[in-house]
Amino acid sequence: MKTFEFRHATTVEDAIASGNAPGARYLAGGTNLLDLMKGGVEQPEALVDLRRLALTTIAPTAEGGAFIEAGVTNSAIANHPLIRAQYPVVSHAILSGATTQLRNMATAGGNLLQRTRCPYFMQTAFSSCNKRVPGSGCAARHGFHREHAVFGASDACVAVHPSDMAVALAILDAVVHVQGPDGRRAIPIDGFFALPGTTPDVDNTLRDGELILGIELPPSDLADHSWYLKVRDRHSYAFALVSVAAGLRVVDGVIASAGLALGGVAAKPWRLYEAERILVGRPPGEEAFHAAAARAMDGAEPLPQNAFKIDLGRHSVVRALHMAAAVRGDDA
Ligand code: SF4
Repeated sequence: MKTFEFRHATTVEDAIASGNAPGARYLAGGTNLLDLMKGGVEQPEALVDLRRLALTTIAPTAEGGAFIEAGVTNSAIANHPLIRAQYPVVSHAILSGATTQLRNMATAGGNLLQRTRCPYFMQTAFSSCNKRVPGSGCAARHGFHREHAVFGASDACVAVHPSDMAVALAILDAVVHVQGPDGRRAIPIDGFFALPGTTPDVDNTLRDGELILGIELPPSDLADHSWYLKVRDRHSYAFALVSVAAGLRVVDGVIASAGLALGGVAAKPWRLYEAERILVGRPPGEEAFHAAAARAMDGAEPLPQNAFKIDLGRHSVVRALHMAAAVRGDDA
């Protein structure tokens, strides 16, 4: 492994001053970054350790939502009473991912910044990967792409984002709060991840040196009926082939509002706005759920090995909506 400098940051400002240097990377739980460094995929000049920063609380906001600081572990988020009560889909999504040991180390900020698990990206033995080595080509397009994107891909890259939590955050209209050399700003989750286009090496819209401070969850009316369905090749410790975050607010037997997003199909959580609109005003049930599912995969552009995701996506949407309608709050 290449040698690198290691710096402990003691304040946010101190971290940003170090993190803004060329070749520097922030280190939190390290569950993804250290693996990539061991394999030579990531080769930072310096690691800026964030673990001494006090970014480890979850608190209610004045607006009635919640603020999850960036250093809170995935386990702490999933098991927090406020998250379980008001945002059970977040808890459910996190618990469907990784293992207990990894969830105990991985953090909220790191969850958003984890990198694709495309095998050609993860292994330096493969020479063509535009995300790892810009301009080198995309081995997946004409190689193994069964798990890859059906939405939002480009000639340069067809990778998917691996986060489960982010899919749940999408239907909640979460906001990512960051601070950088030019001050603080808030990024809606829908604008946080970058589609590959011609620059697949860029995963998100963070600017140089920006540090994630936390994730704001606005008040939600989807808590009573929500579900996270993850379809994968084995029941644990596997990434989604397709996942669905679904939330419904039902008033007097009619869907008053809905949230629906897919994971495992794009380089970002894929929000299904049109399917959400179809659900509103209908009674929850077969007719409404199939009508939404029929539109869910509109615009998909599968590759030869992942065309199965079209049918799988539709069926998963129906299943997730049924589960969301059947549960109440934290029953999941
Ligand atoms: Fe690399 Fe993206 Fe192609 Fe995978 S899909 S080989 S990450 S460029």
